Amino acid sequence: MHLVIALDGPSGSGKSTIAKMLAEKYNLVHIDSGAMYRAVTLYCLENNIDPKNETAVCNVLANIDIDFDSKGNILLNGKDVSKKIRENDVSNNVSYISSYKQVRLNLIDKQREIGKHSSIIMDGRDIGSFVFPNAEVKIYQIASAETRAKRRHKQNINSGINSNYDAVLENIKMRDYIDSHREFDPSKPADDAIIIDTSNLTIEEVISKCSEIIDRKLKELDR
Ligand code: C5P
Repeated sequence: MHLVIALDGPSGSGKSTIAKMLAEKYNLVHIDSGAMYRAVTLYCLENNIDPKNETAVCNVLANIDIDFDSKGNILLNGKDVSKKIRENDVSNNVSYISSYKQVRLNLIDKQREIGKHSSIIMDGRDIGSFVFPNAEVKIYQIASAETRAKRRHKQNINSGINSNYDAVLENIKMRDYIDSHREFDPSKPADDAIIIDTSNLTIEEVISKCSEIIDRKLKELDR
């Protein structure tokens, strides 16, 4: 059976952690769509392309090849950049890059192509609302900005990335605003997504809620 699970939500809502665990549990390929926007941003920063210059960014899209290896690491023109794309410079600029229609259409094409060939769980902002409107399961995770900033701050420290809680909170609020107000394909829950507020839930509790939703759907499809 071919299955697409869309797991959306804002930064720090816990999508990636949950998506990884669910991918293992249900034997799905996990695709982190945010990593793709981050990789384009990294390319621009490394090649002195101003992220706020839409024309300049769109002009270099043809030079950018993004792929994932079998372990889920993201490759930018063949090089593993999984760690570099989490740096502050990338986080501070990615929302400009991801607001450009041409960038989005380019990456959405790639995302749809991956979903054609494998059963997947893809996390992002627009997976259920735009990339895979017919996904079998659509979940949208939310949490307060403060909770999300605390999680991201802790994650940064654990990964050896320089981090300051107030700056992380400010970046999260800025990205929430830009991502949900962009003209083309803004970040939003699909009308038929199930919303889970993860603010006061442990990872195990979120996994259990998501599993209930997925198991129900699998039973339905099996009938
Ligand atoms: O999920 P993550 O926080 O790594 O995503 C980084 C950025 O990529 C988001 O702030 C957003 O600007 C962009 N993004 C997007 N659409 C997606 C995934 C991420 O616009 N499906």
